Amino acid sequence: MTGHLPIHALSDAVGGSGRIATDEARRALAAQDISGQGPERPGVIARPATIGDLQSVVRVAADHQMPIVVRGGGLSYTGGYWALRPDTLMIDMRDLNAVEPVTAASSVVTVEAGATWAQVYEALKPHGLRLPVFGPLSGSRATVGGGVAQNVAFYGSATHGLAGDHVLAMDVVAGNGDLITVNGPEIAAYVGDAGILGIKARIDMRVIAFPSQQHYVSLAFDDERGLLAVQRAIAKGALRGTIAEAYGFDRVTHHNLAATGFSVLEAAGIAGDVARGAGSLVSAARSLTKMAVAPRAQLTRIAWSLHCVLEGDDPALSDAAAQLDELCRSNGGRPIPDTIPRVARAKPFRPVRAMLGPDGERWLPMHALFPPDGVDEALTIVAAARTQHRQAMQACDLRMSCMTAVIGDRIIVEPQFFWPDSLTEFLRANVLPQQLAAHGEAQSNPRGRELAHTLRRDLTQKFGAAGGRFIQLGKFYKTPLSESAQSSRQAIKPANDPDGLFNPGALEFN
Ligand SMILES: Cc1cc2nc3c(=O)[nH]c(=O)nc-3n(C[C@H](O)[C@H](O)[C@H](O)COP(=O)(O)OP(=O)(O)OC[C@H]3O[C@@H](n4cnc5c(N)ncnc54)[C@H](O)[C@@H]3O)c2cc1C
Repeated sequence: MTGHLPIHALSDAVGGSGRIATDEARRALAAQDISGQGPERPGVIARPATIGDLQSVVRVAADHQMPIVVRGGGLSYTGGYWALRPDTLMIDMRDLNAVEPVTAASSVVTVEAGATWAQVYEALKPHGLRLPVFGPLSGSRATVGGGVAQNVAFYGSATHGLAGDHVLAMDVVAGNGDLITVNGPEIAAYVGDAGILGIKARIDMRVIAFPSQQHYVSLAFDDERGLLAVQRAIAKGALRGTIAEAYGFDRVTHHNLAATGFSVLEAAGIAGDVARGAGSLVSAARSLTKMAVAPRAQLTRIAWSLHCVLEGDDPALSDAAAQLDELCRSNGGRPIPDTIPRVARAKPFRPVRAMLGPDGERWLPMHALFPPDGVDEALTIVAAARTQHRQAMQACDLRMSCMTAVIGDRIIVEPQFFWPDSLTEFLRANVLPQQLAAHGEAQSNPRGRELAHTLRRDLTQKFGAAGGRFIQLGKFYKTPLSESAQSSRQAIKPANDPDGLFNPGALEFN
């Protein structure tokens, strides 16, 4: 299949045959993401080590009218880097990962797009600096380029919104191989574009001082109304600037956490991280005491929980903590040990194990962002789907969890599906060794798989109709977060990519 492709020219452009892969196995692997199998294998994969080589390889592809897809960490689940044609060039960005040095006075950091969020976090921390939105939960392997192309969110997002909101400039490789600098209002079009406007090569991100203190709060709620009332108030501006994260879990998530990540045993295993994160032995001892009184059984009895990280300087932080406490209690929240946010922050980027459920199940997440007053309807839609499909879900052992989180002035609702199934090649290559050893021989469950994908499509359609908007667009979601950014993309696309070679099929382009 690769016989007619310009392999020699691509190889010369990218720095030699060691930076090109054409073998069946790697191309087959590159045709999958977490959500499953894409339509075609890419014909060839190039892994440039310099931006100059990246430009050269794009020029060769353009000369031969090859479609181009870009892959960062490969941790997305919306077909973002799937190839639609067998003559596609896939560009693997992971060797373009330099983070330029900063000083304590820096307000900007320049990174190559293949750098991971963890690399950037580690580079900034010794200087007392941080990105405002400092990464997704997958940041130990997900790249800044992939995150900006998908406009990700998590750490810092209750205060600072989406990662893309903090991009100051970008160098982007256009369809003719030229490097163009994007800044000012045009940035909005390139953020969340799934790479259709070009390849992000180098990104300038805004940097802030790492807040001097953190305060952790976790609460239990008997039903979702109290949780949503608190998240709604935060998204509407209560305690604005103080609450960095505010995420909510349902009972299914509690079961999952109890079964894996936040059991007492695990808490003991990560005691060292917490001790380092806590800053002093006294506060570490206090954290660990709290963990010890959070046995698994207790977590699984809770219907909904909210986990917040507050940041700032005293005395403002103490005032904010008191206000949050009052807000939560007046909405039926009762304090529980703050193990979850404290452990998450102690070491934000751990090896990625959540690609599988706690018992090795397959995992398929989805989401939509809602204005604060739209979030109740979203949860009603989720509850209705659970009721309507209960029997079918039970028949194939499919479970659905739901997470909610404040992202600036919106709330993200994220249902996730879990079902027992065999592992794909992608998963076999990417899960942790102990997960592969334990679950590598799982039986195939096509009915569970099909139902998970059907429910994901169905909920996506219903969320969209209810006013939900999407990030992580790739080739799955079609409704972008911002209509004005989509219009700008339409205007820019013909100049940057006249032949429509960048990521065909993404974002309703091409
Ligand atoms: C366990 C787990 C937890 C996760 N947690 C979160 C979370 O907390 N928040 C969240 O938002 N997401 C989360 N995700 C989803 C995923 O990690 C993010 O979507 C992330 O952005 C993927 O980054 P990546 O480098 O792996 O991108 P990839 O999957 O490689 O690519 C994503 C998209 O970006 C494009 N792209 C990649 N690099 C470039 C570039 N340099 N130039 C142009 N286009 C490019 C690709 O073509 C593709 O369309 C999670 C995923 C997993 C598996």
